This record gives sequence, C-alpha cells and structure tokens, in this order.
Amino acid sequence: MRRRCPYCKRAFEPTNGRQRWCGRKCYRAAHAAANREISAAYHAANRARILKRKAAYYAANRDRIAKHQAVYRAAHRDKIAKRKAAWYAAKRKRIAKHQAAYRAVNRDRIAKSNTAYYAANRARILKRAVAYYAANRERIARREAAYYAANRARILKRAVAYYAANRARITRYQAAYRAAHRAKTAQYQAAL
Ligand SMILES: [Zn+2]
Repeated sequence: MRRRCPYCKRAFEPTNGRQRWCGRKCYRAAHAAANREISAAYHAANRARILKRKAAYYAANRDRIAKHQAVYRAAHRDKIAKRKAAWYAAKRKRIAKHQAAYRAVNRDRIAKSNTAYYAANRARILKRAVAYYAANRERIARREAAYYAANRARILKRAVAYYAANRARITRYQAAYRAAHRAKTAQYQAAL
C-alpha cells in the first residue's frame, strides 16, 4: 500500500505500517518545521514575558556580554565585514526596487512634496550646498572630470540630440540673450 509523504507530497512505499514520511530527510524537515511553528507560537504567546526576561538578563550581564561581543568581533572581523557587505548588497537591490516602485506610483506627490520642501528650506539648502561645494571643490572637479571621461560619447550624443530637438528654441534663446547683452557681446567680440 503506497502512501503520500505529508512533507514532500511524493508517493512512497512504506517499509512498516507506522512510517509516515518518505525518508529520514523529510522526517527531519517536517519535525524542524513543526518545532519552528511551536516555537513561534510560544514566542507570540509569551512575547512580553520573554522580552522582559531578556532585558533583565542583559542588564545583569551587560559587561560580560559586551566583553564577549568585543572578543567575538575581534576574532571574526573579516567574516563580519564580509557578511555585512553581502547583507547590504542583497538589501540594496531590494530597497532600490522598492523605492523605484514607490516613486513610480507616487511621482506627482513626491514632486510636489520636494518642491514644497525646497521652497520652505531654500536658504538653508543653498547655504549647505555652497559650503559642501567649497569644502569639496577638488574632489567634485575630479569626479566630474572622471564622469565626463567615462561617459564622453554618451554625453556628446545626448547633447547633439538635445540640440537637434530644440534647435529653434535654442536659436531664439541665443538671439534674446544677444539682444539683452548687446553692449557686453560687442565688447567681447571687439576683444577677440
Ligand atoms: Zn518526503
């Protein structure tokens, strides 16, 4: 008489009447799952009591725990750093995806909120930006140069496309600028 394993759902031939799972692997997995469920239920039912007990334990052993953690961190520095980096890398993608989805759904609301924030904090933001630029002038210039060098073809192509798409508008703008700054323009051309 064949049976169906309640864990992996595959049919199997039991070797005795009491065998419920297809093999040791499913038996272990099923019991581990059951234990996890029992443990989760216990934690859910006793959450406040467990947290209180943990806090009391931590308070009573603070120094010992801190010392133990410091020793552990010192002994496993590389492993911890690697694990953390992997954790962030894995999370970064998920966070980026989540944020992109959020932005796509709330584009108008975000734009409005950004505009309002900028309007309300204009002076502070500008001051901070100027200070940041002054403090990091060289670093920013280096970064921009590197970005330009790495993306030269793309930037030029985009600029050409932009110019082609906005030729009339640009020509109008340039004519208006020249008309408004006629004296300055003449001076500049005379100096050439
Ligand atoms: Zn099974």
